[in-house]
Amino acid sequence: MPRERRLKDNQIIQILCRSDDAVAIYTGEEILIEVANPAMQAAWGRDASVIGLTLSEALPEIEDQPFLGMLQEVWRTGIDNVGTAIPAELLVDGKLQHYYFDYAYRAVKDENGQVYAIFHTARDVTEKVNDREELKVAREREELLEREQALNEELAAANEELFATNEDLSAAQERLRILNQELEDRVDERTAELSRSESRLRYLLSDAPVAIAVLRGRELIVESANKMVLNAWGKTDEIIGKTLPEAIPELDGQEFLGILDAVYTEGEPFYGSEVKALLRQNGRLEEVYFNFVYQPIKDEAGKTNGIMITASIVTEQVFGRNQVQHLNEELIAINEELNESQDLLMSTNLDLKASEMRLDKIISELPVPVVVLMGPDQIIATTNEALLKYWDRTKEEVTGKTMLQVFPELKSQPYPDLWKRVLAGEGSVASIEIPVTYKDKLEGTERSFYIDYHCQALTDLGGNNVGVISTILDVTEKVRSRKQIEKAEAQLRLAIESSELGTWYIDVITREFKPSRRLKQIFGFYEEEDMLYDATTNQILDEYRQLVTEAVDHAILNGTSYDMEYPIKGFRDGAIRWVRATGKLYGEDANGHASFSGTVQNITQRKLEEQRKDDFLSIASHELKTPITTLKGALQLLNRYKDNLSSAIVPRLIEQANGSVEKITNLIDDLLNTTRTNEGQLHLNLSTFIVSKLLDDCCQHVRIGGKHDLIVQGDLQLEVEADEARIDQVVVNLVNNATKYAPDSRKIYLLIEDLGHLARVSVRDSGPGIPEEKIPHLFDRYYRADYGGAQYSGLGLGLYISAEIIKRHNGEIGVESKPGEGSTFWFTVPKKVG
Ligand code: ADP
Repeated sequence: MPRERRLKDNQIIQILCRSDDAVAIYTGEEILIEVANPAMQAAWGRDASVIGLTLSEALPEIEDQPFLGMLQEVWRTGIDNVGTAIPAELLVDGKLQHYYFDYAYRAVKDENGQVYAIFHTARDVTEKVNDREELKVAREREELLEREQALNEELAAANEELFATNEDLSAAQERLRILNQELEDRVDERTAELSRSESRLRYLLSDAPVAIAVLRGRELIVESANKMVLNAWGKTDEIIGKTLPEAIPELDGQEFLGILDAVYTEGEPFYGSEVKALLRQNGRLEEVYFNFVYQPIKDEAGKTNGIMITASIVTEQVFGRNQVQHLNEELIAINEELNESQDLLMSTNLDLKASEMRLDKIISELPVPVVVLMGPDQIIATTNEALLKYWDRTKEEVTGKTMLQVFPELKSQPYPDLWKRVLAGEGSVASIEIPVTYKDKLEGTERSFYIDYHCQALTDLGGNNVGVISTILDVTEKVRSRKQIEKAEAQLRLAIESSELGTWYIDVITREFKPSRRLKQIFGFYEEEDMLYDATTNQILDEYRQLVTEAVDHAILNGTSYDMEYPIKGFRDGAIRWVRATGKLYGEDANGHASFSGTVQNITQRKLEEQRKDDFLSIASHELKTPITTLKGALQLLNRYKDNLSSAIVPRLIEQANGSVEKITNLIDDLLNTTRTNEGQLHLNLSTFIVSKLLDDCCQHVRIGGKHDLIVQGDLQLEVEADEARIDQVVVNLVNNATKYAPDSRKIYLLIEDLGHLARVSVRDSGPGIPEEKIPHLFDRYYRADYGGAQYSGLGLGLYISAEIIKRHNGEIGVESKPGEGSTFWFTVPKKVG
């Protein structure tokens, strides 16, 4: 049998009150504080005076907090309410402070199961919770950071691992979807559970991890709302007892109130998935996403009298997914862009390839030699047949090699340097007719060409120089033939100049007359003055003019040439000159112009010589005629005396005949000498002799004639080395001339002078002298000075032959004379050597 208890009930209560844990005992629906131990009092921030008060009297600050309701619930239902870390706001030390308690409201029942007290134990876990909260915040921040980090890394890696990341993301998305699904399933399950049991609901309401609120009546009065729902709504439990539109005014205009009304009316639950709500949180309207159920609460009659809201906040998932979605979209976009740019690249590549091939094809078909050299090494990349032929190489021999590998001989030529400069961006180079030399492939001999050369840089798509392209035009033939023409022209010019040919040219259409410098000279014009075509006609001597113009016109008309000789009068000097003029009409040239051109040669000299020759012939025949007539007369007389040869006249006639024959012989000698001199057959027979002796012995005919005194003077011992007979001939000639042209000059002086290496001999008369202008011509062949009326016989050959003889001796011949002062003819010959 049981022992009697030693402790009285109030002793037990006192002992219990000693507990370190906060303990309180309540009774009645109004929750009267029967017991509250010091720990509980301390937790409340009160003292023992609270005992005997109702809880709401003792702690007026909890009026808006759920505790009273929860206790009343326990009282009413007899179901314990045990929870952890329930928040409470209590007035401790005069200020409202936040606490968290692990608590238990336990219904203490009598044997009939009737609740007669509530036993409340509580433990202040505020610190623990705060620590946990901070930890949680820190962790969330860390996670956020990590997520950001990961996101960043993912983004960084995205380009390289595009496809892999995509798959990962798809998988992640799938996982999220599954997670969502699971969450939704869980919510569904919970919701179902909730709807199954009102009491379970009460329980769940307090600590369920989902937001739960109960709205009463059609006006939707917030009857209860757990912490999560309040958090989600951004409100405190002040809203309990208010209608939902009052409690959350920002719902106005959003869909929720309408839906709730419909659920109320129709009695059917409404399931919302990831529905966006705009809720004021921390003073700001924020986007919050919910998965939720609006579950009608019905009375026994099945009539809806309230709605329970259960909701889980999926903002993060949605944002996360949106982010993932967004990222995904971005990645897809990037991928597409990449694909596009890949396509573009491929098509550009193809285009490039195609244009490269086109370029190759164009180059290979070009008839002009072309080469493409790539890079600073000048590697032969592309050539064509035309070039290979010119190089005398096959494609295989050159392609891929550097220019200097194929043609080392170019090293000393300007081309490698030129390519380098073009590649470096100095611009293109074009040169014409420049020389280039290649070595023959087999024989190694040098082959030189002239080329027109063009070289320019080749650029890539980025505009960078990557090589050079050169075109080469072999113009060797052209240059060589032009050079030949130039040479021929130069020769012709030289010939024209040396022949002193004047040339002219008329453009038949423009009638422009172009005389050469020499032509102007011939026609007596100054070099710098204009000479018109008319001058060529005007300057012709009157008696020839018509003849010439007719011949020229005839040549133009018939396209033939003319070749005429006629005298002209110099435009400025008035001198009469003979010219030989030729002319011809030339057909059209490359420019379609016909031209008329010709040459004019000054033939005055030749004409004069011809004249003299003619004169000479008449003189010669006249000269010969005189002695021959004398000879003839003498012979006729002799013939008469042939039977009487003793007649005194016969010796005179014979002497006369001899004299004539001698004259004829002399004349013939002169003629012969002239011919010999002309033909260079004048041979000298050199010997040493004393000049004075030769002078003493010669000219006996003059001394015998008695008309002149020959006086020999000067260095009478002087010896010379010469052809004695020829020098005798010269002296005789000069003395004869003196007697002939100075018949009144009694004394003729023969002077011998020693000039060092030479001996000088002069013959001086005191005759009429010779006009100055005639002196230069005295030694010309056939020249005979005309002395106004005085008639002297002679052939004009004596002085010419004398001059030739002296020239052969390397001596000189000349004359000093003035009219009225006589003449001194002189010559020099080499003195005897040693
Ligand atoms: P030729 O006496 O047969 O005419 P030359 O050649 O001997 O030919 O002389 C050329 C000309 O030189 C002569 O015609 C004459 O006019 C001139 N001449 C030569 N000697 C004298 C002289 N001593 N005095 C003047 N005139 C002279």
